[in-house]
Amino acid sequence: MIILKNAEEIERMRTSALMVSKTLGMLAAEVKPGVTPLRLDQLAEAFIRDMGGIPGFLGMYGFPNSLCTSVNEQVVHGIPKDVPLEEGDIISIDCGVLYDEYYGDHAYTFAVGEIDPAVQKLLDVTKASLYVGIEAMKRGNRIGDIGYAIQRHCEAAGFGVVRELVGHGLGKKLHEDPQVPNYGKRGNGKLLQDGMVLAIEPMINMGTHRVRQLNDGWSIITGDKKPSAHFEHDVALVDGRPVILSTFDYIYDALGLPKQDPVFA
Ligand code: MG
Ligand code: MG
Repeated sequence: MIILKNAEEIERMRTSALMVSKTLGMLAAEVKPGVTPLRLDQLAEAFIRDMGGIPGFLGMYGFPNSLCTSVNEQVVHGIPKDVPLEEGDIISIDCGVLYDEYYGDHAYTFAVGEIDPAVQKLLDVTKASLYVGIEAMKRGNRIGDIGYAIQRHCEAAGFGVVRELVGHGLGKKLHEDPQVPNYGKRGNGKLLQDGMVLAIEPMINMGTHRVRQLNDGWSIITGDKKPSAHFEHDVALVDGRPVILSTFDYIYDALGLPKQDPVFA
C-alpha cells in the first residue's frame, strides 16, 4: 500500500532527509586514505544523536551499524570494517536517520584520494542517472519510467544496472511501497501521484549487472569484482513535479566543489 504524504508531512520528511545530508557532509571531510569505515560509522552515529536523531539503520532487520559502507566492488549493505581505506578506493556511504517519526535515507559514493579516471566516470554517470531518474518522477509518468530513464542512461555508458536491489517508498517506515527499480519499461508500473515520497537510488556496476551476497549475510558485491557506485536522494512529488528533500550541498561544501543539485521547478 502506497502511503501518500501531505505538505506538513513532507516538510517533516525534509528535516529527516537534511539530517542525513548534514551527516554525509560531515563524513565527506573525513573520507581519506587511512580512515576506517568503522571510524566513519562511529562519527556518524555520534553526529546523528547530537542532532537529536536516531540512526535509522542501526538494528534495522538486525543490521549492526549506523552506516552501510560499501567499498569498491561492494554494491550496497557493506558493514563498516576496521580496515583503512586506501588511495584509489571508492566508498558508498548510505545513511538513515529517524527523526520526528519519519525516515531520511540517502547515499553518496566518495572517491578516496585520487581515483582511476574510468572509476570516476562510473561515479559521474551513476550520479547523473540519479537526476535523470528524478526528472522522470513527474505527473503522468509511472514507476517504470524512472527505472527506464536510469537504465538507458547507464547502459549507454556500458555499465551494468543492478536488478536485485531497488529504491523504495519512504516515510514512517524505511521501506514502504512502491519498489522503485533502476530498470524498467516506459509506461509500466504504478502511476505516480502527488504526495509520493521515493528513495531513488541507482546502484550501477562498471561491469556485469550481476551481484552476489557475501557470507556476512549483508554485503552485496559485483559478480566480477569490478567497482560499483550508488547515489540516492529522497524525492517528493509535489504539484506534479519532483522536489528533492535531501541535498548533496553539504558534501560539495566540504569538498570545495560547486553546488550541483538541479531544481525541477
Ligand atoms: Mg539508502
Ligand atoms: Mg534506500
